[in-house]
Amino acid sequence: MSPSERSGREGPEALGLEMRPEEMRRLGYRAVDALVERWSGLREAPAWVGASRDETEPLFREDAPEEGRPLEEVLERAVEEVLRRSGRVDHPRFFAFVPTSPTWPSVVADFLASGFSVFQGTWLESAGPSQVELVVLDWFREWLGMPEEAGGLLTSGGSAANLVALVAAREHTGNPERPVVYLSDQAHSSLERAARIAGVAPDGIRRVRSTDEFRLDPEALAEALARDREEGRTPICVCSSAGATNTGVVDALDVVGSLCRREGVWHHVDGAYGGFAVLTQRGREALAGIGSADSVTLDPHKWLFQSYEAGCVLVRDAGILEDAFRVLPDYLQDTELGRAQVNFADRGIQLTRSFRALKVWMSIQTFGVEAFRSAIDRALELARRAEDHVRDSEELELLSAASLGVVCFRYRPGDGAWSEEELERLNEAIQNRIVESGFAMMSSTRLRSTYSLRLCILSYRSDGADVRGTLERVEREGRRLAAAWSS
Ligand SMILES: *Cc1c(COP(=O)(O)O)cnc(C)c1O
Repeated sequence: MSPSERSGREGPEALGLEMRPEEMRRLGYRAVDALVERWSGLREAPAWVGASRDETEPLFREDAPEEGRPLEEVLERAVEEVLRRSGRVDHPRFFAFVPTSPTWPSVVADFLASGFSVFQGTWLESAGPSQVELVVLDWFREWLGMPEEAGGLLTSGGSAANLVALVAAREHTGNPERPVVYLSDQAHSSLERAARIAGVAPDGIRRVRSTDEFRLDPEALAEALARDREEGRTPICVCSSAGATNTGVVDALDVVGSLCRREGVWHHVDGAYGGFAVLTQRGREALAGIGSADSVTLDPHKWLFQSYEAGCVLVRDAGILEDAFRVLPDYLQDTELGRAQVNFADRGIQLTRSFRALKVWMSIQTFGVEAFRSAIDRALELARRAEDHVRDSEELELLSAASLGVVCFRYRPGDGAWSEEELERLNEAIQNRIVESGFAMMSSTRLRSTYSLRLCILSYRSDGADVRGTLERVEREGRRLAAAWSS
């Protein structure tokens, strides 16, 4: 199709990248149809589809085409060949890593925000969207119980949020020469990365041992703080987890928080995985103390059921964040509209930012908070029942009790003496079999050094039969493999 046909304009005015309204609609509606079809067939589809580089190279390797192609052909290829070749993190039996299952309004909101070309860096360019981001942040702030001056911004994810928090902590502590950051040995890898980016030298990244229950050990923390001070270093931040990725375990946020206040050290809580559990009664109890933190990371694209990407960082005083990040170049002087008109670019890494708050706002407006509260609570209940199943099973061994949505366990044959090494090989084989079957997607981890299977139950689509079915498959595969190996 020639550019003039596509744009509907003739002659020299034809603009090569425009499309006629009918074509825009046709392409848009087809994309919606493809999505609705995928979403409706999710339960019957495999939970994971992968391919090796050897398989994908010949499918897609080509020079950038000089000439365009019919849009149906391009869309068809994108959907059938590209998009279908990936894990289905929103599948009801996707229990690996940290899954997500976005709401439909969040997906539509991303489309709208991108089509309206919202530039969410300065108030001048996005008054309505910036106001909505402030409102959404205030909802989160209230859920967490943070003070009224608290504020922050939405980020690409938890990694960016953790980085923003660490830099704010460093700046607020006066940019000391030998900064130290404290992490539990269970802390998420993004915190160590954030510390590196924030300029903390490797010998300033303190991995504090966790207790037998995988919690940050306040005593070990206090000792480390004292030792570092003696050696002339300056603690800039203690990071605790509101839901560690490995086990879902929540650190003793109130105990660590009081210690940090006494010591005058910034307390950051990484709630990327578990933070939104505060919406529920049991979550609020587990996360007691989170509202007194200096900063909190949340990931709406995990347990608030938002499409990728949506992370968030909140700091106990938004002014601290602006002091840390604000730089005003001459070419942005027109964007100075007074402090009330927040320029979100002053609070983080990005100048050009998409309008992520719209998806949260539209999702909550559509379903109401109660729908989210009960979806999270349901997942908590499913994890608890998964733990019961493991405890009741003669063949499964619980390695870490259900905490938030995570349960860790392994298959252990009732008969015979299996060495640790054999158990590891057996469980690895079970894990591979389940993933290859496409029935469910799981992932493994190590607790101390023990190889562990792990379920992270989070989706609003998962039900009791999905969880039970997956655990029964682990038992069945385990039995089969163990019998074959013993004979
Ligand atoms: C997922 C996760 C992160 C990283 O967040 P991204 O959104 O993947 O960047 C950080 N901390 C914890 C506890 C997480 O679960």
